[in-house]
This record gives sequence, C-alpha cells and structure tokens, in this order.
Amino acid sequence: LLLGGSVLLVQVRRNSLEAVRKTTFVSNVSHELKTPLTTIRMYGEMLGDGLVKNEGKRKGYLATIIAESQRLTRLVNNVLDFGRLERGEKTYDLRETTVGSAAEEVLEMQRLRLEDAGLEVDWEDDSAGASAKLDPDSLEQVLLNLLDNLVKYAAEGEYVRMGVSADAADVCLEVADRGPGIPPDHRERIFETFHRVDESLTANKPGCGIGLGIARKLVEDMGGRIICEANRPRGAKFRITFPRSH
Ligand code: ADP
Repeated sequence: LLLGGSVLLVQVRRNSLEAVRKTTFVSNVSHELKTPLTTIRMYGEMLGDGLVKNEGKRKGYLATIIAESQRLTRLVNNVLDFGRLERGEKTYDLRETTVGSAAEEVLEMQRLRLEDAGLEVDWEDDSAGASAKLDPDSLEQVLLNLLDNLVKYAAEGEYVRMGVSADAADVCLEVADRGPGIPPDHRERIFETFHRVDESLTANKPGCGIGLGIARKLVEDMGGRIICEANRPRGAKFRITFPRSH
C-alpha cells in the first residue's frame, strides 16, 4: 500500500509539473505570437488610414510588416514541428543535398535581416561541393533557429560567421558569433526543451525555449549531430555534422 501510495504521489507530482510546463509554454507562445501581430496591425492600420504621407516612411512600415509576418511564419513552423516531433509524426524528404549551397541560400535570404540587426555577415565554403543526404527544408529550419537566436542573444557581438567544410567522412557546418557565449554547464542543456540560460540574458527576449530542442531533433533524425562550443575569442559556436555522401 505504501509503495503504491508513493508511486502515485510521484506520478501526481510529475503530472502537475508537466501541467505547469504546458501552461507556461502556451502562454509564452501566445505572447510571442502577439508581439508581431500587434506591430502588423498597428502599421497596417496607419497605412490604411492614409496617415503616413512620407513615401520613405511608408516603405519602412511595409518592410516591417513583411519582416514581422516572416517572423510569425518561422514561429508557427516551429510550433507545428514541435507538435509533430512530440507525436512522432514528423516526416522528412531526404535527398542528396550540396550542403554548402543549401546553407548559403538560407544565409543570403537572411542577410538583410542580420545586417539590419547590426551583424557583419561572413560566409566561407571550403567543402568543395560535398553533399549529404538530408531534408533541405529541415536544414533551413535548423539554421533559421540558430540565426534567430543569434539576433536575439548575440547581436552585440556584431558578427556572424557561417562556414562549411568537409573531410572524407563528414560535412560540417558552423555558425559562430561574438556575443556573450554560453556557459560550459549550459552548452548541453540548451538543447533540452524549455531550457533557457539565465534570466538576465533571456528576461526581455521573446522565446519559449523550443528552438534548439527542435534543431537537435531534426539534425539527429537526419543522421547528423549538433553541438555547442565556445567561439574564440568570444561568443558561441554551433557545429552541425552530417555523414558525407560518396
Ligand atoms: P529560446 O530562444 O526560445 O529561449 P532556444 O531553445 O532557441 O530557446 O535557446 C535556448 C537558450 O539558449 C536561450 O534561451 C538562450 O539562453 C541560449 N542561447 C541560444 N543561442 C544563443 C547564442 N547565440 N548566444 C547566447 N545564448 C544563446
């Protein structure tokens, strides 16, 4: 009876912890959805009311509306994938992909946004066209999550470097910044769902702690590995490795 009771107690505790995590998650996601929506609505209404006479300003507002919609799309894609991964329903369209070209395409699409955030963008491809079997859309999502984090947490470093290299066995992709970096004891834990580093870094930053968890799951499902290291002289470096196709 005692044993049964304590098992039940542990179960109840686990369930209530789970419930708290779920509620926090839902409220964080809602908050994250609300911020871009508010901006889109406000700028949209101002443009609609004809209140903005200056052509340059109008273009700026439109650009913000587009950028915020894209942010919403990334967020919704992440949440959808989070659900699919949790239920084991995520599917991949695996095909031979030139990793360098796929990564460069993502970086070029994001270049303006990164530069607007004050980041100098550096691209290096030493992979000589090496390819790996992966799902390009999932690779894009992984990189977008890393770049989103960079803008959120490491923009003060004013620098991002994406590089691709290859040896006989692997193709390796690196994303490095010169921001505050990630303390050694958090470098594995940041890949856990809902784990965020300390309050001072994340308190005023939107986020629900699922980005890197999704990134790791996607990479591993495609047969790769993702780790976080220190960047020299400062900052964080994320390294993704896929077995190279021959
Ligand atoms: P979220 O950004 O929603 O909090 P993530 O899973 O994407 O969730 O990231 C987990 C945590 O890792 C972040 O909360 C942040 O503390 C830390 N982090 C991620 N990328 C960086 C980076 N480039 N520099 C510093 N800290 C980072």
